[in-house]
Amino acid sequence: MKTVYNFSAGPSALPKDVLAKAQSELLSYNGSGMSVMELSHRSNLFAQIIADAEARLRELLSIPNQYRVLFLQGGASQQFAMVPMNLMIKHQKADYVITGSWSQKAFKEAEKFGQVRIVGQTSNNQIPELSQDMFDPEADYVHITTNNTIEGTAFHDLPDTGSIPLVADASSNLLSTPLDVTKFGLIYAGAQKNIGPAGLTVVIIREDLLGHTSETVPTMLDYKTHADKASLYNTPPTFAIYMAKLVFEWLLDLGGLSEIEKINRQKAELLYQTLDHSKLFEAPIDPKYRSIMNIPFKTIDNNQELEAAFIKEAQLQGLETLKGHRSVGGMRASIYNAMPYEGVEALVEFIQQFERKHS
Ligand SMILES: *Cc1c(COP(=O)(O)O)cnc(C)c1O
Repeated sequence: MKTVYNFSAGPSALPKDVLAKAQSELLSYNGSGMSVMELSHRSNLFAQIIADAEARLRELLSIPNQYRVLFLQGGASQQFAMVPMNLMIKHQKADYVITGSWSQKAFKEAEKFGQVRIVGQTSNNQIPELSQDMFDPEADYVHITTNNTIEGTAFHDLPDTGSIPLVADASSNLLSTPLDVTKFGLIYAGAQKNIGPAGLTVVIIREDLLGHTSETVPTMLDYKTHADKASLYNTPPTFAIYMAKLVFEWLLDLGGLSEIEKINRQKAELLYQTLDHSKLFEAPIDPKYRSIMNIPFKTIDNNQELEAAFIKEAQLQGLETLKGHRSVGGMRASIYNAMPYEGVEALVEFIQQFERKHS
């Protein structure tokens, strides 16, 4: 089998070791004669899997006791509604920082539930400077997107929101670096970028934010339902939770988040350096705002024909899914935790080889 490096933005590459481990116990989990997919979510075997998944995630992020970890479904997009339904209660107001299309979607959804204000909007290629006095003291929360998957920007410093809970969509960079959970009221992430397969959404919520919803909020959309039942109110995405557990174990074996951060920074630096030195390609994002997870790039003179040829030839060499998001065009390399350094080296070599051929 030829080596393939998958640069998809999501669902995205999973660590090969994790896939191999899942394969080795696919038909019979822990000697049970059953696949994890076939286990009752009420069985002791699965109870151990979900407890381990939570414990490993807590260990990775040093999640304090007053935070609950929830394993939900519905994707990050469902969180766009659940966050305001559960948190926009006291003043029915919230502040949203718009840094890209995902935060724009989150904002639009929140507008259905109360008075929502945009704070510090810049162009889609930047991250605004934010200070505490910019936020409405009556806002029930402030929402940010920590990493903008489509645009390739990221927050490098978290805004100080004072006593207003900070809520983050961290779908595309949770677990890529250490993160101080205590800075947040709530963090959510769809698993399919940096955690596991699609179908699982991880929510980390400070306990005091639970249980304030109105009576009309559907049971399934109330965080408290899931917190009270340890994410087993109804059938959770069992196999996805098992895969996430294996990913968490893989990260811990590697040395945890400070270790993966080093590797992630090395990968991003290699690719950005190559693009910054290229006479054919460029990374359009200002170095101040660059993401280390999603790296959009393009030809300097926007040569769409050449970009199409690049994507096609790259694929023939085993460099998959480099096409940029349809709203941005060009190329995008998503280099989440599971992308090995060698994958970025292979991409860089191909970029240089392509450049020599076309200059
Ligand atoms: C992928 C993504 C989403 C959407 O996730 P779904 O799970 O498909 O709903 C939302 N926000 C960010 C930052 C993303 O990267």
